[in-house]
Amino acid sequence: MQVAVLASGSKGNAVFAEIGGTRLLIDAGISTRRIVKALEGLGEDIKDVQGVIITHEHRDHIAGLTTLCKKYHIPLYSRLETFRSMYCLDKLPQDCLNPIQDSFKIGQLAVNAFNISHDAANPVGYSLIGDNKKITVATDLGFVTSNVQEAIDNSDVLVLEANHDPEMLSEGSYPWMLKKRIMGNRGHLSNGDAAWALVRMKKRESHVFLAHMSAENNCPKLAAETITGIIKKQGIKLGSELMLQLAKQNEVVTLDGQFI
Ligand SMILES: [Zn+2]
Ligand SMILES: [Zn+2]
Repeated sequence: MQVAVLASGSKGNAVFAEIGGTRLLIDAGISTRRIVKALEGLGEDIKDVQGVIITHEHRDHIAGLTTLCKKYHIPLYSRLETFRSMYCLDKLPQDCLNPIQDSFKIGQLAVNAFNISHDAANPVGYSLIGDNKKITVATDLGFVTSNVQEAIDNSDVLVLEANHDPEMLSEGSYPWMLKKRIMGNRGHLSNGDAAWALVRMKKRESHVFLAHMSAENNCPKLAAETITGIIKKQGIKLGSELMLQLAKQNEVVTLDGQFI
């Protein structure tokens, strides 16, 4: 199993995952050049990627799709409503588009899509299951619904949004409408909400990438302090039960990166 967050944040998102020899990308919100280069750095070849599963149509999750798909003809998987809402839909090779149901298979992997609360057409998170491992990606969500909480249970690896600090957001420079959107039920997850989701999740030495961190309304040190503070107070052991890492916008972060 390998998981690498190739990029994470409002300027572009992409995650690489491999279980039992099946290789996938979750979202492609950075350039094809960056994706190919990042994979090379991991000793991986883009030609071995069997699919891109897409969470939703916001540009920071699909900006690299057109080139990636035209150049390498990788199958794309997403909700039909998500495909229909993509700004680049006309440019995508139609035979690459695979509208999904809640569960489907790619290679050796069972893929489960679960609904998330976010201001997009029909946004989802994903769990990948195979070889007795489970990888879950849940970013871009206004709050943790019970089905999200259930989906993240027993993940070996979890990419979870920790977008903002509510105080930094409310005191920051964003226009009021945008603040309201981010804080709303269909916006983005705060550090505290991410921490409580981790407290409640059923854990098995779970490795967590804290992701989609805002450059304006959060900072790595504050996110780490807030989240570890809540987790430790609940008696959860960091480093054994839960291992936490910060995903980054401009740097590839792998499972053997630096823990917080
Ligand atoms: Zn996003
Ligand atoms: Zn989004």
